[in-house]
Amino acid sequence: MKIVKIDHLGIAVTSIDEKKKFWIDAMGLTLEGTETVAAQKVTTAFLPVGESEVELLESTDADGPVAKYIEKKGEGIQHVAFRVENIEEALAELKEKGIQLIDQTPRKGAGGAKIAFLHPKATGGVLVELCER
Ligand code: ZN
Repeated sequence: MKIVKIDHLGIAVTSIDEKKKFWIDAMGLTLEGTETVAAQKVTTAFLPVGESEVELLESTDADGPVAKYIEKKGEGIQHVAFRVENIEEALAELKEKGIQLIDQTPRKGAGGAKIAFLHPKATGGVLVELCER
């Protein structure tokens, strides 16, 4: 499989609006856009950083995965996303290597990307997202 780059860092926040003070006002990043992914009960805000992006994740529902993450671990980096050339091939290869997957097949993420998560148990505690755009 071919990893192209770190696509984005997914950061769980209680309020995107509130965190703009740091990421935009203080750090000088630009908000490229926001999008709500209903299936994952999350609103995402993309802030490009060179070739990569910071992705702020705000839960739209108290029982969404991001809300549960914050409840357990507090705000902070929730996942690291790697862009791959072919996500189906990458998943098949990892599966063959015995890596535990959360998503056996890609699902639709923000920005029309195809995404899939690997299980943190298989990655040393990091929630790894693969994405193809
Ligand atoms: Zn992501």
